[in-house]
Amino acid sequence: MIPYKRILLKLSGESLMGNKAAGIDEQRLAVYASQIREANQLGIQIAIVIGGGNIFRGLKGASKGFDRVKGDQMGMLATCINGLALCSALQAEGIKARLLTAIRMEPIGEYFSKDKAIESLEKNEVVILSAGTGCPYFTTDTGSALKGIEVEAEVMLKGTRVDGIYTADPEKDPNAVKYDHITYDEIYVKGLNIMDLTATTLCKENNLPIVVFDMDTPGNLLKLLSGEKIGTYVHN
Ligand code: UDP
Repeated sequence: MIPYKRILLKLSGESLMGNKAAGIDEQRLAVYASQIREANQLGIQIAIVIGGGNIFRGLKGASKGFDRVKGDQMGMLATCINGLALCSALQAEGIKARLLTAIRMEPIGEYFSKDKAIESLEKNEVVILSAGTGCPYFTTDTGSALKGIEVEAEVMLKGTRVDGIYTADPEKDPNAVKYDHITYDEIYVKGLNIMDLTATTLCKENNLPIVVFDMDTPGNLLKLLSGEKIGTYVHN
């Protein structure tokens, strides 16, 4: 049984790098596109928010002397570059995909509106939502929570390179234990570093569950959408 009709998939820019030091790894992009095609063929409505950390992060820029607002704007533009790349990779898979942006920049992508996004989703087009929230001082995780709520997604699937949320960083601590499910409040109390608090709070206050899962293993998205219990489920 397919558990969701409409999902918001969050992909980090950083994971698009694959094994490269920066930029976009075409192989990783193709693996993502093919997983998204499989999900699209199940008839699931898919909105995607993509990050930009493989190209630029405002906070890192600020530490090197960039003005924070301009640095964040550079970061938001980076998400549009990734969005275009993903859109193109999906189209190469034979999938109809549409890029909407949170900052006006036609003809690169149309300016986001809830109605436009839902209209496309209902036609089984994959909608890529770039430029995060459109405002500095936010992250694409927050953009993802916000857009997920706006387009009335039933869940936010946060694709990462780790297979869920752990008691500690599993890449550093061999004793770290994975949670199958956890509440937003436990994330606050335990100080788990899943995503920024603004994003977590938006999800909590608007009752948008999150599944953190490993998107880098081909087939995982399909497993999750086919009802298999993978990753960590975050809820109220
Ligand atoms: N950004 C922003 N507002 C937003 C979303 C993103 O200013 O609503 C900027 C911010 O500088 C951020 C960068 O875009 O560092 C890239 O996004 P993010 O770091 O979330 O990308 P990811 O970690 O997912 O690759």
